[in-house]
Amino acid sequence: MDAFLYNAAPCRVVFGDGSLNKLADEVEALGLKRVMVLTTPHQAGQGQDVADLLGSRCVVQFNDATMHTPVDVTSRAASLAEECKADGTVAIGGGSTIGLGKALTLRAGLPQIAIPTTYAGSEMTPILGQTEDGVKTTMKDDALRPKTVIYDVELTLGLPVGMSVTSGLNAIAHSMEALYAQDRNPVVSLMAEEGIRAVGSALPVLCEKPDDPSARSEALYGAWLCSLCLGSVGMSLHHKLCHTLGGAFDLPHAETHSIILPHSAVYNAAAAPEAMDRIARALGKDDGNGPAALASLAKATGAPTALRDIGMPEDGINHAADLAARNPYWNPTPIDQVEINKLLKNAWAGHLPS
Ligand code: NAD
Repeated sequence: MDAFLYNAAPCRVVFGDGSLNKLADEVEALGLKRVMVLTTPHQAGQGQDVADLLGSRCVVQFNDATMHTPVDVTSRAASLAEECKADGTVAIGGGSTIGLGKALTLRAGLPQIAIPTTYAGSEMTPILGQTEDGVKTTMKDDALRPKTVIYDVELTLGLPVGMSVTSGLNAIAHSMEALYAQDRNPVVSLMAEEGIRAVGSALPVLCEKPDDPSARSEALYGAWLCSLCLGSVGMSLHHKLCHTLGGAFDLPHAETHSIILPHSAVYNAAAAPEAMDRIARALGKDDGNGPAALASLAKATGAPTALRDIGMPEDGINHAADLAARNPYWNPTPIDQVEINKLLKNAWAGHLPS
């Protein structure tokens, strides 16, 4: 056993069908009396349901959460929170909504209860990415982690298949990088392998039966584990590439992760054989070939495979490779700009690694 450091992060998790009904108790347990409900325009109805459950404990609903947490949206929400004397937030939605909750924790010290409805995995992490003037910056602070996370499987039954797949692959990417993280430890690695297994087994079922309750439950359980991994250890090339591409070309978050995933696995395969073995095993293969197992999951679930299909310009490849090679995150395989360029060309064209 190699030496390791393990730091458990505090966060209360309430998981299950219908667990949204426990929201009022959770709000009470945190001593909140004037809650601001956060969501997106698309999920305003679910936001209203949450407000109704809270009754007089909800003082205002803010429905404008936006991808990549723009600072001007946070400023509007913070002014409203101050005006209404909110003492905490309840965020219902994906990573964008939970990101807004974290930004309000940062700005105004408001504690957050997060109710994730995708598999993106922001809810268990102390990480906040914000955008201002087209530049995305990421910070980490333990105070940003939501105090309580309510995982209610019923809220995910209507997540469209395409988003379920890309968001699930986004979750798997967190676990993949946790398995070869420089600061990995045995507990997080167990969670990572189990998270990949759970999400990886659920996604093909959801493609056939999107409202299958046990596959939804398995996917959400796996997403929780993957989120814990993201919040526990350092991420490497894969997250750096996705962060760079998202920031520079405004590419959609989950789709970008899905496309890059098998390519970053190939890049790191030789330097991280144990991680690849565990990824393959988690996906039901015994050949130790993690990248092939990931590529075959992407194919089986009809995930997007080409950056060119999601808005990446071909003449942006060199710039992206340059950005990704600058201030790189630690990575098992040293970062080589020429190799990154090749990786991005393949990902742009949709040439899946074999
Ligand atoms: P999202 O939160 O941007 O949601 C995309 C759209 O899907 C929104 O319109 C949302 O309302 C809708 N949606 C969410 N759940 C739904 C459901 N069950 N049914 C129907 N529609 C639903 O997408 P995302 O992929 O969850 O999150 C991406 C964002 O999260 C990015 O900004 C990313 O940077 C951030 N993120 C942050 C972390 C972190 O740790 N800081 C981790 C992962 C992702």
